[in-house]
Amino acid sequence: VQRVLTGITTSGTPHLGNYAGAIRPAIAASRHPGVESFYFLADYHALIKTTDPLRVQRSTLEIAATWLAAGLDTDRVWFYRQSDIPEIPELAWLLTCIAGKGLLNRAHAYKAAVDKNTADGLDPDAGVNMGLYMYPVLMAADILMFKAHSVPVGRDQIQHIEMARDIAGSFNHLYGEHFVLPEAAIDASVATLPGLDGRKMSKSYDNTIPLFAPTAELRKLVFSIVTDSRAPGEPKDADGSALFELYQAFSRPEEARAMRTAFEEGIAWGEAKQALFDKIEATVAPMRARYEELIADPAQIEKHLLEGAAKARAIATPFIAELRHAVGLRRLT
Ligand code: ATP
Repeated sequence: VQRVLTGITTSGTPHLGNYAGAIRPAIAASRHPGVESFYFLADYHALIKTTDPLRVQRSTLEIAATWLAAGLDTDRVWFYRQSDIPEIPELAWLLTCIAGKGLLNRAHAYKAAVDKNTADGLDPDAGVNMGLYMYPVLMAADILMFKAHSVPVGRDQIQHIEMARDIAGSFNHLYGEHFVLPEAAIDASVATLPGLDGRKMSKSYDNTIPLFAPTAELRKLVFSIVTDSRAPGEPKDADGSALFELYQAFSRPEEARAMRTAFEEGIAWGEAKQALFDKIEATVAPMRARYEELIADPAQIEKHLLEGAAKARAIATPFIAELRHAVGLRRLT
């Protein structure tokens, strides 16, 4: 049995990138026999990015409702909220004590923040919290706790999976073979979607198209995607066009090929935007009604999450006991 694990940070409203890049492929994978899927709401991770309690709570509700509306079968998978599993931060501490500082100095999320500060002429560590610095260790705990073999990630996350392997290897070397070494699974067919401004669509950049924006707002957002000033009839580049990349993520391969041809033939931006809107709306509309129902009933979602936590802790509680014993956190008698 292969174990697969995916988390989404509860730092904002889920967007098209979260859906096409993580939720849609994860739900498809969870239907394969021989796969055990672990999907979690990464709310401890959210605290690295926001100090707004209501934002974290609201995002937890929205992301949970999104997974359920997208068709997640909670009987088949482990679906839980990270902060319901106290064994995870406990494991993170055990791993912190063997993780090399030099290793974490190289973590790109932290380095990017430091590099940006330096470029802006600020103190290198200005505004950098220790959560950002330690994030790869918490992520290692998320993965290693459930002995996940495979972690589907975008290319920017490969380094963090390597770090989890590294830390797991050190622990196994010091204390015996307790952890499975995880691997990053890069699916070439899953693209990183651009946001409204052309950068990676991300909750942190405020450049997202919310997955369940109401129809009128969705249309408005699609029409606000940045394009160049080429007029109707002028050939347009599909490669590097945010509009085209989004279209490709929500259409069949032959439809994407036809759109590429339309670009070469000079389709008007307005027409291309309308076609993209139609595609997204066709994907989203069937799920939106279910999402609205779920979001209006937090008690039902809470019930799913608590059941999921019990199921996850059935694995985590005995495992942390084994690990505590391994490192010497033992009863005296
Ligand atoms: P944050 O800004 O809080 O990091 P995010 O929106 O960038 O949030 P995460 O919560 O870190 O997303 O990622 C959740 C999942 O969604 C990951 O599997 C990630 O690869 C996927 N994902 C996030 N953004 C995109 C995107 N633009 N295109 C494709 N997949 C994405």
